[in-house]
Amino acid sequence: MKVLVANLGSTSFKYRLFEMGEGVECQLAEGGYERVTDYGEVIRDALASLAEQGLATEEEIGAVGFKTVLGRGLSGCVEAGEDVLEALEGFAEVAPAHNPAYAAGIRQFGQILPGARRVALFETAFYQWVPEAGCRYAVPRAWCEAGIRRYGFHGASHKFVAERSAELLDREDVAGIVRELYMNGPVDVAKPLRVLSCHLGGSSSVTGIRNGVAVGTSMGFSPQSGLPQNNRVGDLDSGAIPYASKVLGLSLDEVERQLTRESGLLGVSGVGNDMRDVRAAAVGGNAEAQLAVELFVREVRRWASSFLFELGGLEGLVFTAGIGENNPWLREAVCAGLEEFGIVLDDERNENVRGEEGEIGAPGGSVRIFVVPANEELVLAREVYRKVSSLN
Ligand code: ADP
Repeated sequence: MKVLVANLGSTSFKYRLFEMGEGVECQLAEGGYERVTDYGEVIRDALASLAEQGLATEEEIGAVGFKTVLGRGLSGCVEAGEDVLEALEGFAEVAPAHNPAYAAGIRQFGQILPGARRVALFETAFYQWVPEAGCRYAVPRAWCEAGIRRYGFHGASHKFVAERSAELLDREDVAGIVRELYMNGPVDVAKPLRVLSCHLGGSSSVTGIRNGVAVGTSMGFSPQSGLPQNNRVGDLDSGAIPYASKVLGLSLDEVERQLTRESGLLGVSGVGNDMRDVRAAAVGGNAEAQLAVELFVREVRRWASSFLFELGGLEGLVFTAGIGENNPWLREAVCAGLEEFGIVLDDERNENVRGEEGEIGAPGGSVRIFVVPANEELVLAREVYRKVSSLN
């Protein structure tokens, strides 16, 4: 089956085309458009280009997958019908760059490719089995009823880590559970498999995973929480917002703008929002850049350790996404001094694994440590294929 994965931003449209089948998994094409004003126009253009290259006619595309961020009252891997559109629109305020774009894109594909199944994989889907106490904020009930709770994001990436780490740890039983998770839900296993997944990139999160199922994650109600992000604040005491508004004379909109655009690595370092630039400045002696790096590492460690009691042990630690995959120095800083917990890097292996899959833990450590490159589009293609196969 040919599966088109559509990635919609507020002014961009990117796509990848996959051939999926039993034992078949192949990316056929990718492309994209910037400064998009009319999604219908670029979608038609992309489809015409795929047809011209002989890769897929419109009739051959069996399904279109959407990596939707979060929806009000809805999550999981689901057919993208009216209820998905309503859920996206109900939370347009929470993900303003993404939800309106996905709603528009899903509608357009419905018109342009009426024969293709549309499937939404919510970024929140991987957290649907986190116990209520791990999702609830201690806010009044009315806030809760308004949908204010911990959702978690980067679900496609962490699910991929859950599956791949189980394979790398020779636990095909758990890998099988992860593959079917959105069809069958969690399944008990006799011997536990506990993994910490560190997705460290332009935006970052840490997730604790037991037997392939998330027990909690660092992001909460919006992607504006958890670890410091490239230019977003991450966790912040809610008391700071009214205080900053009064003392600095900032409107709520301006507070939001500064916390979402001028904070995170950029805000602390004053250098930039890319870890490469921040690190280069830190190595060059820039004290604020050094502080930004230290703060980031400390927050990764804080969040990673926060899931250890919940997991009750650890077999695997995984680094993924741009920062996690490419920076041995960062992995070394995150793992420093954890020998007593069985977390020990092999310096040479760690130094040599950049942007590719590899094991970087020392042979003696009880926790195996890996780099697993993120491939969220492939995760989408797989989940969409599984979902459509279950519907047909
Ligand atoms: P996004 O979350 O936007 O998809 P990425 O996962 O690509 O972003 O992560 C971007 C971050 O990864 C940047 O801070 C950048 O410094 C870091 N990064 C990406 N590639 C490299 C590389 N080759 N070497 C070092 N750092 C990298």
